[in-house]
Amino acid sequence: MNSEELWKAVLSEMELSLSRASFTTWFKETLLVANNNGIAVVGVPNGFIKEWLENKYNKQILNIIRKHDQSIREVKYSIGNARLAVAPQRIEMSQILRDRIQEECPSDSEIDKITNLNHRYTFESFVVGVNNELAHAACVAVTKNLGKIYNPLFIYGGVGLGKTHILQATGNLIHSNDPTKRILYIPAEKLTTQIVESIKNRTVEELKQRYGGLDLLIIDDIQFIAGKERTQDIFFGTFNELYSKNKQIILSSDRPPSTIPALEERLRSRFEGGMIADIQLPDYETRLAILKLKGKEKGVVLDEESLSYIATNIQKNIRELEGVLNRIAAFNQIYNKMPTIKEIKQLLTAYLSTPYRKPTPQLVMKSVADFYKIHLTDLTKRSRRKEVVHPRQIAMYLLREEVKFSFPEIGLKLGGRDHSTVIHACTKIREGEENSETIKQELTLIKERIYQSLDTN
Ligand code: ADP
Ligand code: MG
Repeated sequence: MNSEELWKAVLSEMELSLSRASFTTWFKETLLVANNNGIAVVGVPNGFIKEWLENKYNKQILNIIRKHDQSIREVKYSIGNARLAVAPQRIEMSQILRDRIQEECPSDSEIDKITNLNHRYTFESFVVGVNNELAHAACVAVTKNLGKIYNPLFIYGGVGLGKTHILQATGNLIHSNDPTKRILYIPAEKLTTQIVESIKNRTVEELKQRYGGLDLLIIDDIQFIAGKERTQDIFFGTFNELYSKNKQIILSSDRPPSTIPALEERLRSRFEGGMIADIQLPDYETRLAILKLKGKEKGVVLDEESLSYIATNIQKNIRELEGVLNRIAAFNQIYNKMPTIKEIKQLLTAYLSTPYRKPTPQLVMKSVADFYKIHLTDLTKRSRRKEVVHPRQIAMYLLREEVKFSFPEIGLKLGGRDHSTVIHACTKIREGEENSETIKQELTLIKERIYQSLDTN
């Protein structure tokens, strides 16, 4: 079965289990772009869909894929390689992109067999900005005082902001400083699988011994152990053993320990007992510096105007910045020249739907009203009824986040409210998004509606 047939099989099964609207929203523009070394890479049109597939459908997708191809262990999602309405020239381009993705899936030689670290990630290739300087400083400090200063070190931040990079860079530097140190890098998902297998095979003790003998244990995306009680239980034992021997533990997560749902209290307090550092969205200067550095690595040399255009328009995810550079490199390969600024604008439109298909304020407000089953005018009226206050705050937050309105603009749009009221609402909902599953879910569902309408119009 080739990639296309395999993905078709997945799509037809997913279609059966989903509503038409959901299926269209999440799967319409997807494509299997690579399949090697046990990793299947699915191309998706934007970060929102990527996150949704990762969080909600990954398991189901993997199950279906594995029914057809046992060798696949993992499914990854990659932005910007989605099924586009391609003109002949574009097909050539997408083929090149496919090849590139194949190249980008870490080959076995890049990954150290013992430590599981990828040599590609170093501090030299990591740009430090105000958004990540604390995390960077903490990691560097750990390389100099293994197990003695910040233990555990807990790094958190959003998708594609450099957690894996900085964790691995730390491991790589410690390894090159002292190759006798026993180091292991492992994503929490893999650790969970290992634990489950070891329970099945009655090899839990061996597993514990293996982990207990390390000098440095790095676990990426620890939020994955949420709700997995057996994993947490066994991990807790290993954590304590390493900790009591002053062995270093470094963890990453997409959110702080306090907001990881279904995490046992004893683990939460352990995580909070060390050093916690966050990575925020990179500011413009940092994005520019990353573009320059990564551009050099990929042989993409752009003029200031083009760099500034890209750095201005792609803000939320460094992986997307890299995606654009890949796209430009592919362009260069085909046409034997760097794209002009006009061509870059075109490339970006085809590549990233989100920033260029910003929803209108009307669409956001209508989606909010529809979701809460209230009248559109309730959002702008003066009423303080509870049933309308919450939706109104949600609308304010989404106008800020999705439409990028300023606080005064939002106030004006929603019935002439003071901008301090808007700031208060946005802060409240942002906190809610971090701390309350209900609010998070509501926001996701409303965004689903918004982007679905954008897709069909
Ligand atoms: P996360 O694990 O937080 O989702 P990654 O570490 O995988 O993010 O980063 C995504 C991509 O962006 C990687 O290719 C990484 O090298 C790059 N990247 C992230 N932050 C930086 C940075 N500060 N400097 C250079 N590259 C970065
Ligand atoms: Mg990561």
